[in-house]
Amino acid sequence: GREVHLVARPVGEPKPADFSVVERVAEQPGAGEILVRNEWLSVDPYMRGRMNDVKSYVPPFRLGQAMDGGAVGTVIASESPEIPVGTSVLHGLGWREYATLPAAKARVVDVDRAPAQAYLGVLGITGLTAYAGLKEIAPVRAGDVVFVSGAAGAVGTVAGQIARHLGASRVIGSAGGPEKAARLRADFGYDAAVDYRAGDVEGQLAAAAPDGIDVYFDNVGGDHLRAAIGALRNHGRVALCGAIAQYNATGPTPGPDNLALAIGKRLTLRGFIVGDHSDLMPEYTAQATGWLANGELKVEETVVSGIENAPDAFLGLLRGANTGKMLVRL
Ligand code: NDP
Repeated sequence: GREVHLVARPVGEPKPADFSVVERVAEQPGAGEILVRNEWLSVDPYMRGRMNDVKSYVPPFRLGQAMDGGAVGTVIASESPEIPVGTSVLHGLGWREYATLPAAKARVVDVDRAPAQAYLGVLGITGLTAYAGLKEIAPVRAGDVVFVSGAAGAVGTVAGQIARHLGASRVIGSAGGPEKAARLRADFGYDAAVDYRAGDVEGQLAAAAPDGIDVYFDNVGGDHLRAAIGALRNHGRVALCGAIAQYNATGPTPGPDNLALAIGKRLTLRGFIVGDHSDLMPEYTAQATGWLANGELKVEETVVSGIENAPDAFLGLLRGANTGKMLVRL
């Protein structure tokens, strides 16, 4: 099988030459281990941070070795009585066609309830991120006006719909380009859309929310965070989820110069990492499966085929080539 190595640490925007697709014979499972044929790989923005040699909440990728990340696949050899051959599992050894790992590090997924790749997206970390942000970090209350940036992406397409389920009266999303802005309203339950590539995020947000906003779910940082701080009403809440506008930055990026408004407006700005909120998973899964079953939660995926195209999928993700969850199908 093949696997993708990081061979150079990107400076600024990553490029194809930073990656190498390498042939490697899959290891047979030892006692307590399983061998998985991966079928779906996740590529995620946080992986950009792992390409830098810096200390963070996840360790950096190592040069010349297979990267890792979310994957789902089928067990094809097993030395574990708990997980027999034929079982579908979710695990952390993505970026490769075959993975050998302890059964204890895999989670069995029910592919009768949802397609396998849903466990990398709406029923996985992606969906839980949107839910934790709007339920616990910057809780949405009935009647709130909610603004979501990165709204056409994996987390964002789910977040807008969850905001509505949690009682928001108006949901505004921001995405890059007129097509994505149109889809926010047509397909993902947003009432109004900001196309940030057209410029003047602040003005567009003011037009979409003339009386201000109560909650901001931040996937982008930078100009979006500045605009949101300006638009927030007293006691407004911000879930700091991501700052993708600066992930490729080569030097310090300016913070919002209007942060002092948070004082007079009594704002709460709170960062979070989804891994700390796995206690919400059962509650979220129960609700999300219900919404999926009755059509109240629409899911979008962008699928790239073949391990050799996994680096391109990742590069595309950073440039906005995806709508909804970016996936690699093997
Ligand atoms: P997305 O599916 O949203 O993909 C990334 C998107 O970012 C692209 O589609 C692109 O959309 C947008 N983008 C790229 N560059 C810029 C820019 N300069 N300004 C504005 N938008 C940009 O990825 P995810 O849904 O997986 O992740 C969304 C965010 O959530 C990321 O910031 C990620 O780091 C964060 N995250 C945080 C977690 C946590 O635990 N805190 C967990 C999971 C995700 P467009 O075409 O609209 O530009």
